[in-house]
Amino acid sequence: MNQTIPQMSPSISSAEINAMTNYLQSDPWLTEFTKTKEFEESLKKYTKSKHCIVTNNGTITLIIALIALGLKPGDEIIVPNLTMIATPNAALLVGIKPVFVDIEPSTLCLDIDAIENNISKKTKAICYVSLNGRSGNMYKLLALCKKHKLRLIEDAAQSLGSYYKNKHLGTFGDIGSLSFSPPKIITTGQGGALLVNSPKLNKIIRKIKDFGRPKGGIDIHHSLGWNFKFTDLQAVIGIEQMKKLPERVQRKKEIYASLYENLRQIKQIEFISTDLSQTTPWFNDIYVDKPKKLASHLASYGIGTRLFYPAVCSQKIYRSYGSKKNMPYSYYYASRGLWLPSSSFLSTNDIAIIIKRIREYYS
Ligand SMILES: *Cc1c(COP(=O)(O)O)cnc(C)c1O
Repeated sequence: MNQTIPQMSPSISSAEINAMTNYLQSDPWLTEFTKTKEFEESLKKYTKSKHCIVTNNGTITLIIALIALGLKPGDEIIVPNLTMIATPNAALLVGIKPVFVDIEPSTLCLDIDAIENNISKKTKAICYVSLNGRSGNMYKLLALCKKHKLRLIEDAAQSLGSYYKNKHLGTFGDIGSLSFSPPKIITTGQGGALLVNSPKLNKIIRKIKDFGRPKGGIDIHHSLGWNFKFTDLQAVIGIEQMKKLPERVQRKKEIYASLYENLRQIKQIEFISTDLSQTTPWFNDIYVDKPKKLASHLASYGIGTRLFYPAVCSQKIYRSYGSKKNMPYSYYYASRGLWLPSSSFLSTNDIAIIIKRIREYYS
């Protein structure tokens, strides 16, 4: 059967079409320039970050963060065993060893109390992933970083519109990382942003993404750098997406609340406790026995879902990095997670259909 309710798809309207038409008629530069600056300004304003630098995607952001913070091949970085694979892969590209730590079941984010046991002489940083817009106690994490002189990178790719104690996620650590790939909260096709408060890091990052030169159009290079630049074409779309963000955040919370209210009575379904005053659920996640079976039931009615990430150390290239014995929670939740339809444009009728079919499955 055809999919009538997708698990996720981006939302583009006449606003983006008109903005792009106007832009293309304006004698444009196409590559990053004034529109990119405007997009960065809107991200800065929304997150209250002092600086924002946009780049190719939310994997390159992590690679740039590691280089900008001075991590070197052979160093180690603490990462959660339940995340999108880009988090550890970014470290491996620059020769840094990811050291995997389990998650805490209440948030599905890094278990902050389990980090200390995994710190070695080579540990230089922690990459904290605010999975699905949730987080643990960020101040406790900052204190731990301070105690052990570790840098903090926040992989906040799923957390635009999400906060801890009213402070936007991605603004606690040295560098926060956002992604704008099509399934993310806003999209520019591909794209990512680094959030930093330090003016010095802002300068370093801008040089890394532009061949190590202090500004464009000159060929004197102060440091090692590459081309990780954005384009104004993407920024034109990003600016329009940012205008829609407050409404989108509101709608995503309403959808999650409605699913929760109508499904929480089913004892076979586990929800992760979610404070909607702080978290904008990126995807509507539930945890069940045999999620594949529920997924195929829903698929037979045209309802799209997506299985959760496997525990990173269960993936082929990471099998020697850790095991279920040491990180039980990440394996447990990875095997039970199912992402229900999560577009911000789901209609009230779509939501009613999803609820009906899930209730029917468990009745
Ligand atoms: C999407 C995502 C990334 C990668 O972002 P891309 O823009 O697709 O490269 C990294 N980390 C997390 C947690 C993500 O969800």
